Amino acid sequence: MKKIKNYINGSFQEPIAGDWLDNYNPSTGEIYSHIPKSTSKDVAKAYEAAKDAFVSWSNTTIEERSKILIRIADLIEANLDTLAEAEAKDNGKPLSLAKAVDIPRASANFRFFGNAITQFASEAHESVGLNTMNFTLRSPMGVVGCISPWNLPLYLFTWKVAPAIAAGNCVVAKPSEVTPMTAYLLGEILSEAGLPKGVLNIVHGTGPEAGQAIVAHPNIKAISFTGGTKTGEHIARTAAPMFKKLSLELGGKNPNIIFADCEYEKMLAVTVKSSFANQGQICLCGSRIYVEESIAKQFKKDFVAKVAALYIGNPFNSKTSIGALVSQEHLEKVESYIEIAKDEGAKILYGGERVSVKGFENGYYLQPSVIEVDDNKCRIQQEEVFGPVVTIMTFKNEEEALQLANDVKYGLSATVWTNNLDRTMRLSKQLEAGIVWVNTWLNRDLRTPFGGMKDSGVGREGGFEALRFFTEPKNVCISYNL
Ligand code: NAD
Repeated sequence: MKKIKNYINGSFQEPIAGDWLDNYNPSTGEIYSHIPKSTSKDVAKAYEAAKDAFVSWSNTTIEERSKILIRIADLIEANLDTLAEAEAKDNGKPLSLAKAVDIPRASANFRFFGNAITQFASEAHESVGLNTMNFTLRSPMGVVGCISPWNLPLYLFTWKVAPAIAAGNCVVAKPSEVTPMTAYLLGEILSEAGLPKGVLNIVHGTGPEAGQAIVAHPNIKAISFTGGTKTGEHIARTAAPMFKKLSLELGGKNPNIIFADCEYEKMLAVTVKSSFANQGQICLCGSRIYVEESIAKQFKKDFVAKVAALYIGNPFNSKTSIGALVSQEHLEKVESYIEIAKDEGAKILYGGERVSVKGFENGYYLQPSVIEVDDNKCRIQQEEVFGPVVTIMTFKNEEEALQLANDVKYGLSATVWTNNLDRTMRLSKQLEAGIVWVNTWLNRDLRTPFGGMKDSGVGREGGFEALRFFTEPKNVCISYNL
């Protein structure tokens, strides 16, 4: 059976304690590889490698760093098929999605930050009349930690490590133990691209053990984390007494607000995607649909018809648009929320049942589920399910829609469907979300700030925001005589 290894100091290494975890293929329910169950010893080793690489890497010219990042991007692109197949097998997502979205975006992350670093600038402030000149010196932080989740494995892993190394840091990174394969394969690409050893170290293992060791390491200066809100809370508690810089990208319960004046067919097609893409396991999925009363009946009918037509199958079948959920544990969690919704008196308009896929009977397949609710305070409306489950509730007017949309503890993204410009501006200002999409969804320009408000996180990634996070600003004030 294949053994995934840690990538430390430019080479693949077994875990020091010799312990391994099982890695499952969600489409078949079988164990297909083993991954290191790393401990604080492996993290310490990775840290030492990163520390030793730092002086040289942080003094490497911007042009050279940029060239290496772009080489990594090219190699990811050249290995698109292999990486996409590995991602689909490891995560359960349709191969078509991994090929069209996950892997191209992983490549784009390296290419984008390889270019962005050449344009990154700091500020200067001349204190006119006082004969002083201030400038901001931005230096890499040193050794930083990056921890990523399982839903978009290589996509989110590279979204963190690319800006970190572009800015001149060295990294100890941990992908999710549920989906470690593509981060493992990235190791080979890093060596082939000529990334100096120790600049990016990849340690595999569980959150409470390997992840915690990264966060608790006294000399790892900053942590960039994407994952659940509860985990983020725990990380913040560990890191706060050490005054570490933190970027936390956490959970969401995003509203998708549909007004009667929208472009109906476009809204319908995109709403199917924003509800169920990646089996609904995207932090940005619009899991709470609010539809204006006057079109609610028609919308429910049309939406359910489109959802019922989605093909649920194994990730490698080209017809598949809904693959397997990521794990047995997660499948059970999602199912438990469907039960909670029923107990709360919600109405299942479609789905909610397990699916047996021929030849893949032990895989984790679930029908996409559409649930009608009339109480915004019920658990299915308030808590993150992170699966193929969407709720529908009606509203009477804009004011009510806004109130319902903001009435959760999360604030990651929101989608609005309307052709009214004034309403667009009003809602954009008042929605409590880090990202507002109007008449579109998951439309990303990597230069824009990305992140959430409220319990969806702290800090922003993307563009220069990420490069600012991974650098320490210092004000230098020079007095001069004229
Ligand atoms: P998770 O919090 O369980 O795990 C995320 C990562 O943190 C994993 O690598 C895990 O091993 C690690 N981890 C767990 N406990 C840790 C600890 N105590 N210390 C350090 N690291 C620890 O999340 P998940 O189940 O992998 O991912 C799903 C969650 O991620 C959802 O809540 C989803 O909304 C969120 N998410 C957010 C964004 C965003 O950009 N805001 C993007 C994708 C996913």
